This record gives sequence, structure tokens and C-alpha cells, in this order.
Amino acid sequence: MDREAVRNNLNTVRKLLPEGVTLVAVSKFHAEEDILCAAEAGQTDFGESYVQELVRKHDVIGDRVRWHFIGHLQRNKVKYIVPFVHMIQSLDSVRLAETINCEAGKCGRKVECLLEVHVAAEQTKSGFLPEELEEEVGKGTFSRFGNIVVRGVMGMATNTDDMNAVRRDFARIRDIKTSLEKYFGPQFDIISMGMSDDYPAAIEEGSSMVRVGSRIFGPRPVRE
Ligand SMILES: *Cc1c(COP(=O)(O)O)cnc(C)c1O
Repeated sequence: MDREAVRNNLNTVRKLLPEGVTLVAVSKFHAEEDILCAAEAGQTDFGESYVQELVRKHDVIGDRVRWHFIGHLQRNKVKYIVPFVHMIQSLDSVRLAETINCEAGKCGRKVECLLEVHVAAEQTKSGFLPEELEEEVGKGTFSRFGNIVVRGVMGMATNTDDMNAVRRDFARIRDIKTSLEKYFGPQFDIISMGMSDDYPAAIEEGSSMVRVGSRIFGPRPVRE
């Protein structure tokens, strides 16, 4: 995409964000130049879904921006991103948490993570089931991991045009976050929900972090 378009899109999205809502620009499948262009326009947080792609982009761009990992993360790839990643938003199993904790320890870091919760109708989406998450958190599972800072929850709504259903999913994610607050400290303050097609609704339902890709960088080449 040309630089002007990225800048304009970014400003359009920003205008709709209330204060206190963080914009993560989802740059997966988009070129390093697009990321740099957005960064020059003041964008600080970027989201990537694939480890290899993130590592390649980090090699080029480095720590000038904050990298959020938002895709399904395989345990054997954790070591490649833990040295530099700002936040892993897709923590979706206790075993993955164990691996992140261990790798973070090796590089002397504390890694911020969000608990990914599955509320959408699609079976294919990942994340903890709400009951399962409440049970693990209640047992103190995550307080065992001294190198992980659990900052909140991340979730996706069902892929549907029915905005009432989408809103119900967002409200559910928000309620799950609220019910987990008592187990964590004040740093448990993030609700990451809302993408290009639904972020205004997500904000109305309490989102504090939106992950917007195509609305900023244009359509992705199909590879998903
Ligand atoms: C790709 C992706 C997004 C951004 O999607 P857009 O519809 O392009 O805004 C947000 N969150 C996750 C988890 C994604 O994989």
C-alpha cells in the first residue's frame, strides 16, 4: 500500500478510539515498509500471527516498535520470540504458559501475556474455554509462573454479520475478565478484543485494546 493510504487509514481508525484504548496495528502478511510507515506516523504497537514472519520483521525493524504475538503459538517456537516480544496475546494452554515461563527465565525477562478465551461459535478458533480458564486461574495455576505477567484477556467474536451476536460475545469476554480480576493484581487490566469489522462494537462493550489489520494496511494476500 502507498504511504499516504496507510497514514490516512491509521488516522481514521485513531479518530474512533476513545482515550485509554490501545491500537495494535496487525501487520501480518504486510511488508516491512508498511510497518515503518505506520511507525513514522506514530504507531507504536504491531501484531503478528506467525513466528517466522515476526522473527524476520524483527530482524529488519528491531525494537523500534512493540511486537505483539496474536496467532496460535506452538511450544517449540516460543524460544524464537520470547527474547524480544512485547506481549503474547494468545496464551491458550497451561503447557504453553510453562514453556513461555521457562524460556523467559533463560533470557532473564518477564513476558506480558493475555489469556486467550474462546467464546466464538467456531470450533476452529483457539483459546481456553471459559469454565476451564476460571478453574485454572482459581487453582492458582498462573501464579506459579514467575516470568509471566498476566495482563488480561484476549478474545474474538463469532464471525457473523449478526452484530447482536458479536456484541454478546464481546460482553462475555468482558464478563470473564471481570470475574478473573480477583485472582490477579491491578496489572490485570487489559481486554483485547475488536478487529477491523467489529472494533467499534468491541469498544462499546468494554475493549481496552483493539487489533486492527486490513482497515489500516488494506486487504491481505490470501494465505489464511
Ligand atoms: C488477523 C488478525 C486480526 C486483524 O484482523 P483484521 O480483520 O484484518 O483487522 C486481529 N486479531 C487476530 C487474532 C488476527 O489473527
